[in-house]
Amino acid sequence: MAGGLLVQHLAEGEEGRERLHVRLDHPEWGHVASLAVSVRHDELVDPALGLESLVWRLFHDEPEVRVEAGRPVARGCRCSIAHYREVVARFPEGERAAMRNDAGAIVVDCAFCSKQFEILA
Ligand SMILES: [Zn+2]
Repeated sequence: MAGGLLVQHLAEGEEGRERLHVRLDHPEWGHVASLAVSVRHDELVDPALGLESLVWRLFHDEPEVRVEAGRPVARGCRCSIAHYREVVARFPEGERAAMRNDAGAIVVDCAFCSKQFEILA
């Protein structure tokens, strides 16, 4: 079992506002970050401790805390042979020839899930 906590300063947008790196220096961000690092390892892997309870433990003294509806974590990748065929087709024939293995296929590894695709192009 593994657990983690990602705390992110959400930008309000850069258009007409301060640049994002300026907002990282906001004094409230340091306060929020110091509260976040106080989370204990056992809290992160406690299946009985819901997200809202964990957030309450960490930030209950703050004037406003919002919990957005989460989505379950799922393993998967959106890669497909059709996508990689399209990508490979964008290379000039000379480069595709250099990519081919002895069997005449171009083997592409998905950088996300490590699945291999053999493309005959
Ligand atoms: Zn993939």
